[in-house]
Amino acid sequence: MGIAPLRMIIPACQLDSRSHHVLLTTMYYPMFDPMYLLMLSPALLLAMWAQFRIRSTYATASQVPARMSGSAAAREILDAEGLRDVRIEMIPGQLSDHYDPRAKVLRLSPEVYQGRSAAAVGIAAHEAGHALQDAHGYALMTVRNLAVPLANFGSGIGMWMLIIGMMIGMTGLAWIGLILFAGTAVFQIVNLPVEFNASSRAKYQLEALGIVGSQESPYIRKVLSAAALTYVAATLQAILQVLYFAMRLMGQSDRDR
Ligand SMILES: [Zn+2]
Repeated sequence: MGIAPLRMIIPACQLDSRSHHVLLTTMYYPMFDPMYLLMLSPALLLAMWAQFRIRSTYATASQVPARMSGSAAAREILDAEGLRDVRIEMIPGQLSDHYDPRAKVLRLSPEVYQGRSAAAVGIAAHEAGHALQDAHGYALMTVRNLAVPLANFGSGIGMWMLIIGMMIGMTGLAWIGLILFAGTAVFQIVNLPVEFNASSRAKYQLEALGIVGSQESPYIRKVLSAAALTYVAATLQAILQVLYFAMRLMGQSDRDR
């Protein structure tokens, strides 16, 4: 559940690509190091738990009927805030929902767009929450958007500089790579409050506008809390990766002396 066009490189909201990201960055590291898995294990275990939580809460909340579809709920929230110019489109995939701040379009997966369930309404409202952040000039969202190119650069070029530097023993190059790579952690840290805020806006609007009642609310809260957990896991993963490589490089620098 996120904000486009960075999904390709940095999974923002898209929960499935987030787990790919964990695998990809794990694979990036050329030599198998048990220390890497050991250090990253809290983040990996939390990510697995979060994936399990999102799937189970989503499945349960999909069975809870709502008064309207996800797209209708998002439309009501947007219109209530005077955001009639923000369009809502359907895109393929599951949990591929996101808000695109450049195009001012809310893109919802078929299940969320058409589904008349607590799960659909909750996720659609979360994405509408991102549109409200954008419209109200929510400062952290602006910072987050500025951190996107930093993170993309860091996870691409930075990671390669780090790996090549380590492989050929050029510690200086590896350190520069790591500093660039740390941009991914900065992004995740800034992203965290943005995601929490979108969910709290969603819960508030759904209740204030009477879209959901006390029947559906607890299910929506569970889905959004599970989603929040995936962002916490991604943040922890990014921080631990930076720490791991910093440890490795410090060890390498000692040996070079
Ligand atoms: Zn989001």
